[in-house]
Amino acid sequence: MHSLVKKYIVRYFGGTAKVEVPLEALDDAAVVNDIVLKSDSHAVKPIFFPGGDIGHIAVAGTVNDIAVLGAEPYALACGLILEEGLTLTDFERILSSMQQTCLKAGVSIVTGDTKVVEKGSLGGCVINTSGIGRRNTALEKNLQVAKQFRSDFKVRWILDSNLRDGDKILVSGTVGDHGIAVLSAQEGLNFGSGIRSDVKPLNRLIQCLLAEVGGVVAMKDPTRGGLADALNEFSEKSHVGILTSEDKIPVRKDVQVACEMLGLDPLEIGNEGKVIIGVVREKAEEVLQLLRTTEEGKEAEIIGEATADFTGVAMQTVVGGKRIISRPVGDPVPRIC
Ligand code: MG
Repeated sequence: MHSLVKKYIVRYFGGTAKVEVPLEALDDAAVVNDIVLKSDSHAVKPIFFPGGDIGHIAVAGTVNDIAVLGAEPYALACGLILEEGLTLTDFERILSSMQQTCLKAGVSIVTGDTKVVEKGSLGGCVINTSGIGRRNTALEKNLQVAKQFRSDFKVRWILDSNLRDGDKILVSGTVGDHGIAVLSAQEGLNFGSGIRSDVKPLNRLIQCLLAEVGGVVAMKDPTRGGLADALNEFSEKSHVGILTSEDKIPVRKDVQVACEMLGLDPLEIGNEGKVIIGVVREKAEEVLQLLRTTEEGKEAEIIGEATADFTGVAMQTVVGGKRIISRPVGDPVPRIC
C-alpha cells in the first residue's frame, strides 16, 4: 500500500504549489491556507465488532488524523456507500453511532452523499469521512513551549518530520486491541476475555496536552500497520533513529496471548484509539503524568526516544538483545479500518 501510494497517487496528484503540508509529506492530514484537511475511507469487516462499529471508526479516524497535526477538528463531510440488503436497523445503528461520536468529539457532519450499490463485497457499507480543522491557542501555546527548549524549532504544525535527537516518545495506552477485536469478529474466534476495540476520538485529550503542558513536536495515530509502521514513519521522515524498549510498550496480556497463538506481532496490529507522541525531553514526564490522569491515557508509557546514533527503529528486548523493528510487510489483519 505504501509503495502504491508513493508510486502512483503521489506521482499524479503531488507537486501542488502553495500547500504548506502537501500530499507528498504523507502525513496524517494536509494543510492548505491554514486549514487542515483529511479524507479517509472506512471498509471494516464486519461492520459491528466488540467495542465499536464502522460509524464509530469513520468519525473517530478522521477526527484523530486532524487532531494529531495539532489542529482542532470542527466539521466533517460523510460519503455513505450502502450495499443493497443492509437492513434499516443496522443503518440506523451506524448513523446513531456516528452521531454519538460526533457529540463526543465536538464536531458536526455538515455535508455528504449517499449511494446504494448492488450486493457484492462491501459487507454492508463503506463510509468515507473527510474533515477540516483549524489552528487554535492550544497549538500556539504548545509550539511556544517547544521553542523554549529548541531554539531552531520553526514549524507551525505537529508533523512526523519534527523529531530530533533526544526527544521522548510516548504511547497513550495498550497496542493491538482494535485489530485483534476485529479479527476475532471476522473469524469467529473467542479469546475468552473480551478483547474490545479501543476506537475513540482523541482530539479533546490531545488539545488538553497541547494547552496544559506543551512541547509536543510529532504525533501519529498508529492505525493500520500499528506501532511498528508509525515509528518507522517518524524515523524516516525525521531522519532520526528510534530506540524503544519492549518492557515499556503496553500490551494487554490477552492480546499478547492471542497474537502468539495467531503468529502476529502486537506492534504491527492497528489501533483506533491510541496516539504516539514525540515530545521534547524536558516535557516528557509532565505529558505522561497528564495522560495518566485521563481515561484514554491511563495506561500511557514513555516507550523510547529519538537518537542520532543510528537510523531506523530498534527495540531493546526483555532478554537483553536488540531487535530491528521494520515496517510490516502486507496487512497482518485485513479490513480492520
Ligand atoms: Mg493517521
